[in-house]
Amino acid sequence: MSKEITTQVVVLGGGPGGYSAAFRAADLGLDAVIVERYNTLGGVCLNVGCIPSKALLHLAKHMEDAKHMAAEGITFAEPKIDLDKIRAHKEKVIGQLTGGLSQMAKMRKAQVVNGTGEFVSDKQLKVTDAEGNETLINFEHAIIAAGSQSIKLPFVPHDDERIWDSTAALELRFIPKRMLILGGGIIGLEMGTVYSALGAQVDVVEMTDQLIPPADKDVMKAYMKMIKSKFDNIMLNTKAAKVEAKKDAIHVTFEGDNAPDKPVKYDAVLVAVGRAPNGAKLGAENAGVKVTERGFIEVDKQLRTNVNNIFAIGDIIGQPMLAHKAVHEGHVAAEVIAGKKHFFDPKVIPSIAYTDPELAWAGLTEKEAKAQGIDYEVAVFPWSASGRAIAQGATDGMTKLLFDKHNRIIGGATVGPNAGELLGEIGLAIEMGCDAEDIALTVHAHPTLHESIGLAAEVFEGSITDLP
Ligand code: FAD
Repeated sequence: MSKEITTQVVVLGGGPGGYSAAFRAADLGLDAVIVERYNTLGGVCLNVGCIPSKALLHLAKHMEDAKHMAAEGITFAEPKIDLDKIRAHKEKVIGQLTGGLSQMAKMRKAQVVNGTGEFVSDKQLKVTDAEGNETLINFEHAIIAAGSQSIKLPFVPHDDERIWDSTAALELRFIPKRMLILGGGIIGLEMGTVYSALGAQVDVVEMTDQLIPPADKDVMKAYMKMIKSKFDNIMLNTKAAKVEAKKDAIHVTFEGDNAPDKPVKYDAVLVAVGRAPNGAKLGAENAGVKVTERGFIEVDKQLRTNVNNIFAIGDIIGQPMLAHKAVHEGHVAAEVIAGKKHFFDPKVIPSIAYTDPELAWAGLTEKEAKAQGIDYEVAVFPWSASGRAIAQGATDGMTKLLFDKHNRIIGGATVGPNAGELLGEIGLAIEMGCDAEDIALTVHAHPTLHESIGLAAEVFEGSITDLP
């Protein structure tokens, strides 16, 4: 060992879960060390996930909006696409945020050790950097925040450079003429939205009977009305059965209800079929930490693993694999280590597809309420009756709220432009235990899209008299 350090808390992984845990631990007066194999903090989210995808989706949205304004009397010239500049813009956004994190770590005196970490025991972690130098970290407590990676499919030649995972898609290697998104979940659809705006002809194949499978059918119906123009062919109840990398193109053979009868040629294929936890590669067994066959680490409500002084947070402990979940779990783990009797017990972990339009939900979906045998009622406010939605051509959007038998809000969903931003109010209302009257009596500004939440509650109460 070339170096040895001792700390109260070591955090394995510098993503949103890891840095949030380390910063909270430091703020509570504990020594904290972050171990990260890459040169920057921020993990998947800041480097190759949430942030770069949103930087590109922001550009895509402007391009799409510009196209659709001709009918309203304004015509823009055809956009000129400079991939180098777009890439530079994306890198600048990432750099600003990861640079900020590194400053925040310094301010808190949270040490960052770069290299790959592996447990030696339940008190020691070995870190090996790119040059092979080793650091032994003696710790009192550890927080495992090692995240997840894209799932690879056994029948797909992933080593071909025209076959992408989300990280490769974010590199903007080239704009394919024809592209396939394999998997109709949020990550695939977001990247498909970007490439469609950049001029690619994009197909989507999804094994189940709808895109974004957790969403309710009525919400999906509104979403499909708007999203389908972005894609050339959406093949539901269909799977890619064979993917062959040939010289001229990637040849994909489909099977299922909407399978084309011949293989289809694509210039690029994005495989977006989900993410697998990184639990198998951490030497967790040396510390006695149980890892499931799929690589997840099980924890209790205080984020403690089966080993008393070792905690785990973020993607590695399970669904939903979202940055905001990881951040809150990180805080709780650090607080518990600092002696606080805290639990991770949210009513709501919001989910948002930042496509165009956006689709967002928080709390229970109708599907979940049914499966749990909960007595519920639904109230829907269609955006065709919203003055603001009409003014901005978003009349296919909708706001849906779910109430329990005590009229308390238990879930909600929104579809349309900025749907993700509207979701904040629904999330807060559920956490605060609001009932329909609380929401209906809250004065919402007019004309706004979030007014649709108050109006949906009025629909539920039967108190709606006039529509804006
Ligand atoms: P990660 O962010 O995965 O960080 C884990 C870190 O641990 C990594 O930096 C990794 O290098 C490091 N690590 C792993 N093993 C070791 C080791 N042995 N030694 C040292 N370091 C190690 N979520 C949202 O909430 N909103 C979004 O809009 C969103 N968009 C996304 C878009 C894309 C394209 C992708 C791929 C994901 C997106 N996500 C989004 C998901 C989000 O990125 C993850 O949920 C989040 O990053 C999980 O945080 P984490 O801290 O658990 O792990």
